[in-house]
Amino acid sequence: MSGTGRYAPSPSGDLHVGNLRTGLLAWMFARSTGRSFRMRVEDLDRVRAGAEQRQLDDLAAVGLEWDPPLVRQSERGDAYTAALQALVDAGRTYECFCTRREIAEAASAPHGTPGLYPGTCRTLSTAERDARRTERPAAIRLASEVVEATVTDLLHGAYTGPVDDVVLMRNDGVVAYNLAVVVDDAAIGVDQVVRGDDLLSSAPRQAYLATLLGIAPPTYAHVPLALNADGQRLAKRDGAVTLADLAERGLAVDDVVAWIAESLGMTEARTAGEMLERFDPAALPREPWVVVPPA
Ligand code: GLU
Repeated sequence: MSGTGRYAPSPSGDLHVGNLRTGLLAWMFARSTGRSFRMRVEDLDRVRAGAEQRQLDDLAAVGLEWDPPLVRQSERGDAYTAALQALVDAGRTYECFCTRREIAEAASAPHGTPGLYPGTCRTLSTAERDARRTERPAAIRLASEVVEATVTDLLHGAYTGPVDDVVLMRNDGVVAYNLAVVVDDAAIGVDQVVRGDDLLSSAPRQAYLATLLGIAPPTYAHVPLALNADGQRLAKRDGAVTLADLAERGLAVDDVVAWIAESLGMTEARTAGEMLERFDPAALPREPWVVVPPA
């Protein structure tokens, strides 16, 4: 086997059919290319008690199997600290004291871009920085040398997106997602990242960050999300969308797998193995999956 894929759920609640579908896709992309497949629990924040085990049970129930050991972000603090220190030592960081409100105001100013940090704190004088340090703890940001980067995505082709001065460590001392994901993927040799396409716009930042840390960026496949009937991202409140809810409606696990398979254009597959046999990345739907849960 060469190369590694992964699935990285956040244990903030139960997985819904859209999450299970993304997990199955990540597994199929990896296994159909002879890769190892790893599971990472992204438990740095928004953790709900019991959710990790229920998520892993549900992923196993639909037929995912992953190679040990399981990785938990909450156990990887030393690796994040080392990566952050490497960037600090290389002079690629600065302290940021902006509040959310200041960032929103700056981004909506005439030359700002919504969603991108405009670099306000990058040019603080030593005196200004010292003054602001007395007001609130600093976040650490990347001092980016580029404004955009291009990644290779199996579904989206060459995708170019903005790279701004992303937060590397939040002002509460927690490592930021964008740094953690890069450090974690590199540590287990991930060279193929399959996840929901809500994260496509983050990929250029992460790939650039990887490059700065001496890591070769992975190949990506950002897959369409599951939406509700109103076109919003599927959520638990949309009805029976978890394995437990669906079981109460009389749907066995293989019924749910068959439903997911059908949504991917794979007919007559009722197990993960049967899906894998039929898996053809080129034939995957490029549109979101609109989920209509059983009444
Ligand atoms: N934990 C993220 C999520 O559940 C996925 C992050 C990733 O795959 O890079 O949406």
